[in-house]
Amino acid sequence: MIYLDYSATTPVLYDVLESYNKATRDYMGNANSIHALGVKSKVLLNSATKQICELFNINEDELVITSGATESNNMALKGVALAYKNRGKHIVVSKLEHPSIYKVCEFLETLGYEISYVDNDNEGLVDFEDLKNKVREDTILVSICAVNSEVGIRQPLKTLRQIIKKENPNTIFHSDMTQAIGKIPVNMHDVDMASMSGHKIFGPKGIGFLFKSSKVKIVPLIHGSGHFNDLRSGTPPLPLIVALSKACRIALDDLEEREAKVLKLNERICNELSKYDGVILNKTKYSIPHILNISLENIRPETFIHSMEDDEVYLSTNTACSSGELSTSVMAIYNDKKRATSTIRISLSYVTTNEEVSKFLNLFKAKYKELDELMRNKHE
Ligand code: PMP
Repeated sequence: MIYLDYSATTPVLYDVLESYNKATRDYMGNANSIHALGVKSKVLLNSATKQICELFNINEDELVITSGATESNNMALKGVALAYKNRGKHIVVSKLEHPSIYKVCEFLETLGYEISYVDNDNEGLVDFEDLKNKVREDTILVSICAVNSEVGIRQPLKTLRQIIKKENPNTIFHSDMTQAIGKIPVNMHDVDMASMSGHKIFGPKGIGFLFKSSKVKIVPLIHGSGHFNDLRSGTPPLPLIVALSKACRIALDDLEEREAKVLKLNERICNELSKYDGVILNKTKYSIPHILNISLENIRPETFIHSMEDDEVYLSTNTACSSGELSTSVMAIYNDKKRATSTIRISLSYVTTNEEVSKFLNLFKAKYKELDELMRNKHE
């Protein structure tokens, strides 16, 4: 098998799974119970959350464990919207966000909130001037992803923060960092809130966190017996949290070295694929090397992906979350519907090997030839 869909999800690392297994086996108590088993679990919980906070240089009261990035994004947007509704009902987001941001925005519109979509240039970079103009007196929140999930566009969060805060120091800045963490260095202090997900960094599915600066208030989505400052109630999933802390520690190791390796693989693939007349690279100077998006001019992306899958090579159309639809990100960057409805995402990781890339390229060549000819014959 050649797996090239690491931005959809990653396999769980052996060491991460071992820490999950150990916590499951040896720490069965509820971390909230006052007896010895509970206390033992609580000690482990505290050390796991402390480790996450140290890794990201945040305070312990700034970490809210969630079930993943969808929940973190929901918590950030709805939580701020409800907490600051008396200050304003205006939210700004980019045109390169994940559906778990857009769907929340649509929901908030039904509650009377106004959403503005900030423009980007034709390289995907958020338009600074437009951002400046869109942040108003009543703008309570701006949410812009650190790295876009479809084309891998990386935004300069620190600069965006300066623009936002200059216009309105009270506007809260949230970033969906799901596709950034574990791929490129991130600084939580560039933003007021950040979302992430364990399963994108070789951790288990169903766990992630929201970083929320202590200066920001949010209304909780889940009420019950309090955890994480009453922001996320329910019995803490200790094995998942322990596994997340392990995955985070490994994910932040050797980031530069790993990125350089991925860049080389990306360049190899781009060099080859740019030789095909019917393949368009949806890549700009802001794309991180881990996410490589292409459009196929003559072949339907689903057909191509299933054909590659027959030989156990796994790729993705758009994001895993919006398969077969128009790629909003490709549309936002290139404003070309045909290009945006024919995209394939090849996502790489530091564990991807040169040998895998060679096999992928050979298979790509064979499948492309076969399907391209088929399509041409059909149209004759
Ligand atoms: N945001 C981004 C940028 C993503 O890529 C994803 C996963 N495709 C999510 C949010 C949702 O993450 P999760 O699966 O953890 O809910």
